[in-house]
Amino acid sequence: MTPSPYVGRFAPTPSGFLHFGSLVAALASWLDARAVGGRWLLRMEDTDPPREMPGARDAILHTLEGYGLKWDGEVVFQSQRHDAYAEVVERLFRQGLAYACTCSRKQLEGSNGIYPGTCRNAGHAREGAAIRLRVPELTYRFSDRVQGEFAQHLGREVGDFIIQRRDGLYAYQLAVVLDDAWQGVTDIVRGADLLDNTPRQLYLQELLGFSQPRYLHIPLIIQPDGHKLGKSYRSPPLAPEQATPLLLRALRALGQATDPALEGASPGEVLAVARQQWRPDAIASRMTVPEADLR
Ligand code: GLU
Ligand code: ZN
Repeated sequence: MTPSPYVGRFAPTPSGFLHFGSLVAALASWLDARAVGGRWLLRMEDTDPPREMPGARDAILHTLEGYGLKWDGEVVFQSQRHDAYAEVVERLFRQGLAYACTCSRKQLEGSNGIYPGTCRNAGHAREGAAIRLRVPELTYRFSDRVQGEFAQHLGREVGDFIIQRRDGLYAYQLAVVLDDAWQGVTDIVRGADLLDNTPRQLYLQELLGFSQPRYLHIPLIIQPDGHKLGKSYRSPPLAPEQATPLLLRALRALGQATDPALEGASPGEVLAVARQQWRPDAIASRMTVPEADLR
């Protein structure tokens, strides 16, 4: 096979173990890359130490390995990338594209999470302040491979957003855009909880002169009781001996056909077949998983 220009990635946050929903996202991203002979990178999004769960980084890497989801090259840790983030924040601030915000949480109450622009022209000093990026009064849109057209007016629906927190920690929006560009990522496959974060990322890409990757947001798994499956559950780690059945469940959640003969196969064998048969167009834009498939 000639080397594919496709570069995909999985970017877990070590705030908890991988759960079934994150396995589905990792698997979709891996398959989408491997089906075309592309590269698949792993990036640990450890920008928020207070929210990190001790042991989660290693446990995530172990689970991925045990489930046969091998990545290319070294794992990138965002905690090692602070210099790169600092440089960009500094530049945006100097150019007046970002500004210091001293609003307290209390002051922002009642604005529905949309920043009212209080500090936009205040000229506050950087020290001890959060840094916000000015957003244009424009709609940013893109075509998602599963969710279709998505559009969001940044001024009205988001407002100026934080790129560096008051405590100095860098925001996800900034780190994700810088690292995807730095790692040469061409294709982002991730959970639909991030669909409405994407227009902010498109704006940052435009501002920094990066090319726009393709996006595929896989639907969130809604449990039969209507709850979304997520980290808030503090799910236990996915058991290594469950790799084959859980991969098969994850494939079914992605609308892929699974051969019952694979139930006794190794994770590597399941993945080899799934990679050959990968059909991203079979992913539903919403999904529900039978209760039995969540245990
Ligand atoms: N670190 C994010 C998460 O675990 C994913 C970021 C991304 O894929 O863009 O939810
Ligand atoms: Zn403010």
